[in-house]
Amino acid sequence: MSADCPFCGIVAGEIPGRIVHETDTVTAFLDANPLAPGHTLVVPNDHHERLDDLSEDLASDVFAALHRLTPAVEAAVDADATTVAFNNGSAAGQEVPHVHGHVIPRFEGDGGAPIHVVAGDRPDLADDDLDRIADDVRDSQ
Ligand code: 5GP
Ligand code: ZN
Repeated sequence: MSADCPFCGIVAGEIPGRIVHETDTVTAFLDANPLAPGHTLVVPNDHHERLDDLSEDLASDVFAALHRLTPAVEAAVDADATTVAFNNGSAAGQEVPHVHGHVIPRFEGDGGAPIHVVAGDRPDLADDDLDRIADDVRDSQ
């Protein structure tokens, strides 16, 4: 547990949270400043900052909770769809340094945007660049 982390506080019951799902390893609760009704956050119970800090087992538990909650959230608020995403690191917009997956209900005509816009302008990459990047990703695992 990290002393000044709000999500650790919610998991520990020290900070109020509208908890919608909890297991030994994962907790989900409503976002306090929702982007849409039903906006839900899924967190590992232990404090880890980024996705790559999670063990594969814990990452699987987080994904299992997302998989379970996404249709439940959609049904609860009668959403047409959901955006499910992680801001993984401060350069990507992560403000709370405790891994959390967002489940954001989406509605036809809600004026929001798809995930394609989150990284700014598309880079102009040639086939050679794409081949090299694919090699680098394979080599980095
Ligand atoms: P991030 O930018 O880190 O991906 O998103 C953090 C999210 O956590 C935001 O959507 C924000 O509204 C939510 N949030 C921040 N502090 C609290 C809190 O104390 N309780 C709850 N329920 N949500 C919080
Ligand atoms: Zn934490």
